[in-house]
Amino acid sequence: MQSFEFQRARDALSAIAAGAKSGTRFVAGGTTLLDLMKLNVERPEHIIDINGLPLDEVEPLADGGLKIGATVRNSALAHHPIVQRDYAVLSQALLAGASGQLRNMATTGGNLLQRTRCMYFRDTAMPCNKREPGSGCSAIGGANRTLAILGTSEHCIATHPSDMNVAMAALEATVHVQGINGERNIPIADFHLLPGSTPQRETLLEPGDLITHVTLPPPMPGKRSLYLKLRDRASYEFALASAAVVISVEGGRIARARIALGGVGTKPWRSTEAEEVLAGQRVGERAFRRAADAALRDARPQSQNGFKVELARRCLVHALNEATR
Ligand SMILES: Cc1cc2nc3c(=O)[nH]c(=O)nc-3n(C[C@H](O)[C@H](O)[C@H](O)COP(=O)(O)OP(=O)(O)OC[C@H]3O[C@@H](n4cnc5c(N)ncnc54)[C@H](O)[C@@H]3O)c2cc1C
Ligand code: SF4
Repeated sequence: MQSFEFQRARDALSAIAAGAKSGTRFVAGGTTLLDLMKLNVERPEHIIDINGLPLDEVEPLADGGLKIGATVRNSALAHHPIVQRDYAVLSQALLAGASGQLRNMATTGGNLLQRTRCMYFRDTAMPCNKREPGSGCSAIGGANRTLAILGTSEHCIATHPSDMNVAMAALEATVHVQGINGERNIPIADFHLLPGSTPQRETLLEPGDLITHVTLPPPMPGKRSLYLKLRDRASYEFALASAAVVISVEGGRIARARIALGGVGTKPWRSTEAEEVLAGQRVGERAFRRAADAALRDARPQSQNGFKVELARRCLVHALNEATR
């Protein structure tokens, strides 16, 4: 690990000004950043610790929504009574991630920005367009069993790894950012970018941008929700496929559905295709299967991850069955 300067942020504005300088990174829980520094994948010259900023509250909003500070720990958020009551899918997704110790450190802002677990990204001896633009993608034709089948490009097929962000996508969260040019509110559907020809650019953030908080809209009336995560072992493992569903049913028919998939996309994968298929349909396996087919219609599997197409379909059908039971 190379040497670096470390500084504690005194206030948001000075942190943003310092953060805009090249070679600077914010650190919150450190569970992504320090991990990648030990592997020499991240080599910041300056690190700004944002844990002292007043961004660690969960607060109800006047419109019935919820404001979540950027440094709220994943464990605190998962166990917050309002989240458990009104946004259970988020609590379930957080508790399905990592381990108890990691969740005690990991923050809302850091989780939004966690990096892919593609093994070539984490190995500086191997070509990787995301780590070193233009060097090539070792995963295409290489070890790609855990990688993405939706949203890929010829330059990168890395899976977006977060569980929390999949639930946030189904809940239609908004990410609030403060930067050198002021404040921006970014819908989570736009926050993460597809890899295209620039896989090194993962979000809409600019240098110095500080995530201050995330807001959730008021809970969907009459909603039922569920996060289902399928993985190689029961804990401390990333998703091979996951589904976040938020659904309301009236008179046996689906009034509204919000669907997002994890473990299969290059970003948290909101499926408006599945939502459209479900709207107005009678609750049941037939509609759920049609929705799952729509969600996976554009899947482009690689040499080792074709199994994910059927796994993700079944994951979504099962999640819908359980949520509406
Ligand atoms: C062994 C292991 C297993 C894991 N398993 C899972 C899993 O199953 N599911 C899952 O979802 N996740 C998993 N994770 C990932 C974990 O959830 C993330 O590492 C964590 O959420 C990152 O949060 P952090 O606060 O520690 O981020 P940090 O490491 O502090 O920061 C991550 C990045 O975000 C930037 N940053 C942080 N906060 C802000 C902010 N407010 N504004 C702007 N930039 C910011 C930092 O500069 C850095 O680039 C696992 C991690 C490990 C190490
Ligand atoms: S899939 Fe993306 S992260 Fe993995 S080697 Fe290819 S370019 Fe790098």
